[in-house]
Amino acid sequence: MAIRYGKAQIKTMIEAIDQDHASVEDAALAALEAAEIVLEDRAKFIVAGQLVRSQEKGPLAPSDPDSIKVALGYYSTEGDALRAATSLWHNSSTGDTFATWVLPMFYGTPAEMHAKQKAKYAEAASKAKEKAKEKVKASIIKRREEAEERAKGGKGSCETCKHLSFDHNTSSNGNGQCAIKDCNCPEWKERLK
Ligand SMILES: [Zn+2]
Ligand SMILES: [Zn+2]
Repeated sequence: MAIRYGKAQIKTMIEAIDQDHASVEDAALAALEAAEIVLEDRAKFIVAGQLVRSQEKGPLAPSDPDSIKVALGYYSTEGDALRAATSLWHNSSTGDTFATWVLPMFYGTPAEMHAKQKAKYAEAASKAKEKAKEKVKASIIKRREEAEERAKGGKGSCETCKHLSFDHNTSSNGNGQCAIKDCNCPEWKERLK
């Protein structure tokens, strides 16, 4: 069976039917309304297919009138839907091959579908913003650590005198002597490790 019903769905139906209805018609209407709720509850997937190859004509362009499209109906579980899609996919007796899709059902108006998408985009945008902020934070930390390393006479400081690049004078080639008092370093040379 494509749609599986459980106790909750049976309870919904009983609650709708087992009432003091004004008429049999009213009872039927209540049952139909309840059936709609039950359907939305349990009909979660639909299988769609399009004939892409037939024994007769070989590969079919999607625009070919013989490239028929079909919706196979409702399934409660993705596994059941996948099984149905797989059996639709190829038939050895006809040679027909279908492209198949397992589609989740969306019970709502087009506007509601767009609202759902919009919410998704907004979430993605806010995540991207958060990520960018984290990147800024990380590079601030990195630069601070590099500055600390330089200040300790490590990587980025002068290899000869351990002073910093801005302590050295700028000569014509940008590598002047150190300007710190009593430091006789003749030339800026960056420590690379
Ligand atoms: Zn120096
Ligand atoms: Zn130096």
